[in-house]
Amino acid sequence: MDNPDYDLFVIGAGSGGVRAARMAAGFGARVAVAEDRYMGGTCVNVGCVPKKLYVYASEFSKSFSDARNFGWESRKPAFSWPTLRDNKKTEISRLNAIYNGLLDGVKAHVIDGRARIIDAHTVAVGDRHFTAGKILIATGGWPHIPDFPGSEHAITSNEIFDLEHFPERLVIVGGGYIAVEFAGIFNGLGSQVTQLYRGPLFLRGFDADIRAHAAREIAKTGVDLRFEVNVESIAQGKDGLALKLTDGTTIEADAVLYATGRKANLEGLGLENVQVQVSEFGTVEVDDEYRTTQPSIFALGDVTGGMELTPVALAEGMAFARRQFGGLENSVDYDFIPTAVFCQPNIGTVGFTEEQARAKFGHIRLFKSTFKPMKHTISGRDEQTFMKLIVDKASDRVVGVHMVGPDAGEIMQGIAIALRAGATKALFDTTIGIHPTAAEEFVTMREPWTED
Ligand code: FAD
Ligand code: NDP
Repeated sequence: MDNPDYDLFVIGAGSGGVRAARMAAGFGARVAVAEDRYMGGTCVNVGCVPKKLYVYASEFSKSFSDARNFGWESRKPAFSWPTLRDNKKTEISRLNAIYNGLLDGVKAHVIDGRARIIDAHTVAVGDRHFTAGKILIATGGWPHIPDFPGSEHAITSNEIFDLEHFPERLVIVGGGYIAVEFAGIFNGLGSQVTQLYRGPLFLRGFDADIRAHAAREIAKTGVDLRFEVNVESIAQGKDGLALKLTDGTTIEADAVLYATGRKANLEGLGLENVQVQVSEFGTVEVDDEYRTTQPSIFALGDVTGGMELTPVALAEGMAFARRQFGGLENSVDYDFIPTAVFCQPNIGTVGFTEEQARAKFGHIRLFKSTFKPMKHTISGRDEQTFMKLIVDKASDRVVGVHMVGPDAGEIMQGIAIALRAGATKALFDTTIGIHPTAAEEFVTMREPWTED
């Protein structure tokens, strides 16, 4: 199009949108970014960042009791929800300002308000219209609560961070990342937490041993973990929310958190005005350049489905900007993406699960180790760490590494580099450990658990 207002109009100032905008502007593009809620998107405001801060908060309670056998004699301090919540707010406001500054710094024009696509090159925000050579949809996802009687009483991860009153009794529905992370957070902060999952074992998609070990450890921490059960209805009772469950039991709660997945945030975006195809899962379909079926419109991050992780959205934003505005061939390598679930203890994982590896490679060797972390030999805490290596027998390549234990996320980042570099089991074996750590176990597992 001739003389558009901008070269790039980004809809959504989340992880992917901000990264794409900054990089494109760095290549000299004239960029606008529309955002209708909060700078930094889900991750900064109602996702990774506040979640991790709350995980830190929740871990103190265990540390206070761990400390006793190490000689620290003190009364368990009281927890103040308003202090945590309000300090979190202050930190998030600081980050919002940083994100604003980052966009200002590259002279990207930030437009407050909900954007709506009018045609292949025009976006409206309120009653203002803007034209652009390219439009990027980076609108992320939105929590989804299924329809059932009383669903209006349920809250989502969007609301839980800022509750006015601390929920002494919390029911969490779901068995994915958010459900297990928040079960750990509120259990640690002192709530009586019940987690309900509809299937036989939560964390579908993770390695089966990891799922089983995590379930055992989480149950030990005091979370009332119930499988094969769902909510039938929620009603306002005299003494809180009254839940009827599918197994015929009832339960009372101060809050009910639904962590039952997220849907692409496309409401009111105006996709009916353009030729952008949406998949059966409600996500925007793109090719490997993040181009939709409307050639001037692109999409990336959570709105396109795939792995809903901030580093993935960031990588896609960079690849998009490099290719479209930097003239560089660039694509994201989706192999061996590591991920962590910040439940307690943590899960860290990279590569194939045992089931996937067996299907892909045929013959595999498995190495497993379960042990009590050194700290808990004295603390007395009943917690076991679990580690698992999966090796392709033909090439000796390590193709899957999984862990449940303290700092699993921190440990897995380095392991992911090794796996991407094609490290073999022999290379793991000749790597000298760091002693005494839990991570050294990954280079000292000698005897296969099984091989076939
Ligand atoms: P988002 O960050 O969601 O940004 C989209 C932005 O678009 C939002 O700011 C939204 O307001 C805006 N928007 C939407 N529609 C419009 C419109 N029409 N006009 C203007 N603006 C609009 N990932 C990790 O890697 N690690 C974690 O620990 C982690 N923890 C998480 C915890 C929780 C509770 C949640 C919910 C998610 C977590 N994630 C985590 C996932 C991560 O937050 C997302 O993968 C990431 O934010 C996706 O980035 P995005 O740019 O695609 O979308
Ligand atoms: P997930 O898709 O991970 O999990 C959704 C869970 O809800 C599943 O256990 C699913 O069960 C269950 N569920 C779905 N529908 C229903 C229903 N109608 N009734 C009962 N249960 C239901 O979504 P989350 O909301 O936990 O998180 C969204 C995404 O955000 C994650 O997939 C992840 O990519 C990202 N995230 C990443 C984090 C990290 O990196 N640490 C942390 C938090 C989020 P079933 O398995 O049977 O389908």
